[in-house]
Amino acid sequence: MSVRVAVPTEVTPGEKRVALVPEVVQRLTKSGVEVAVEAGAGTSSGYPDALYAKAGAQLVSDHAALYGSAAIVLKVQGPTPEEVGWTKPGTIVVAVMNPSRNLDRVAKMRDAKLTAFALELLPRITRAQSMDVLSSQATAAGYRAMLIGAGLCPKFLPMLTTAAGTIRPAKVLVLGAGVAGLMAIATAHRMGALVEGYDVRRAAGEQVRSLGAKFLELQINAEGAGGYARELTDEEKKQEQAMVAKAVADADVIITTAAIPGRKAPVLVRREMVSAMRPGSVIVDLAAETGGNCELTKPGEQVVVDGVTIAGPLNLPSQLPFNASQMFAKNLESFLTLLLTKERTLVTDYSDEILAASLLVFNGTVTHKPTAELIAKGGA
Ligand code: NAD
Repeated sequence: MSVRVAVPTEVTPGEKRVALVPEVVQRLTKSGVEVAVEAGAGTSSGYPDALYAKAGAQLVSDHAALYGSAAIVLKVQGPTPEEVGWTKPGTIVVAVMNPSRNLDRVAKMRDAKLTAFALELLPRITRAQSMDVLSSQATAAGYRAMLIGAGLCPKFLPMLTTAAGTIRPAKVLVLGAGVAGLMAIATAHRMGALVEGYDVRRAAGEQVRSLGAKFLELQINAEGAGGYARELTDEEKKQEQAMVAKAVADADVIITTAAIPGRKAPVLVRREMVSAMRPGSVIVDLAAETGGNCELTKPGEQVVVDGVTIAGPLNLPSQLPFNASQMFAKNLESFLTLLLTKERTLVTDYSDEILAASLLVFNGTVTHKPTAELIAKGGA
């Protein structure tokens, strides 16, 4: 019997993405996988039901039946308690789970004896690159953040020479040059702005420069394990703040993307630095979800302080739902190659490095140690 994969409609408010797009559904059904898609699941991302049907998917209107009949449920956001309630024990659920912020949901999946894989826990090794939803979705977020910044900025971004005079190019500063930051830099550069980038990882300098931007150098190497940043010492933080403050005061648009996995986002732009900015300047804080890189950011809101607009958008990939879903689906298709055999049956051994690292819940146990510890401490 072929494996049945279910793709429900996302229920998180504001979530427009869908886990699988018709192009990927078609490849899966052709390879012998049965795909059931909730009617309307792709509507908000630009994929109508008819395209899923043409790709060989079965359209299902009853969510409970959709969950209850699946061997694998593919989602963008982790399942809600209600969704867990509809799912049979032993069902595999794959999504971005944000476990440390959703301990109660993790506990529900444990009690329901689901098998949950959290895509954000994938190791960032070469073999996992095609499955890396953090990278694909950060690409969408960085691009959108730059468009928001350009839209709020009262200036042209490029230099213009017109009969009505010469316009100087706007200055864009990108703090944090990971995947999202580099995409913001590339987008700002294409729009003709003068772009500066900064990151605590020295290795990011080469990438920033290769995109035509200037890299702000600080004589610190804060690269930690796995290519991520480590936390800075107090003295390093002071030096960093002085250098960043100078660049901040001079910028027309600032995009902040600095993050340290599993921790609150570092504050890079303090209140007094905002006061030193020119009125009309803009900050788009991509770290709003994890506390914000700007002290004045209000998650999900746009505020104006001393004439400076500070935007703290949430779930930016969802604002580019067509391509963000397309990339997410491609990531899932790649991840499924680890869960399914060539004969399209479920693998029973999760010892593969990628599966083992991303396995969050299995057979009534929270297998991801940091999450299990948080739950044991009374988090859920
Ligand atoms: P992230 O979202 O965790 O962080 C964004 C950026 O913020 C990072 O570049 C980080 O160095 C920076 N940052 C943290 N603290 C800062 C501070 N105080 N000031 C300034 N910047 C600060 O990171 P990410 O975008 O997910 O990627 C991080 C790194 O991992 C990048 O080098 C990326 O290329 C690499 N990566 C590797 C793979 C792989 O498969 N090998 C895949 C994806 C990403």
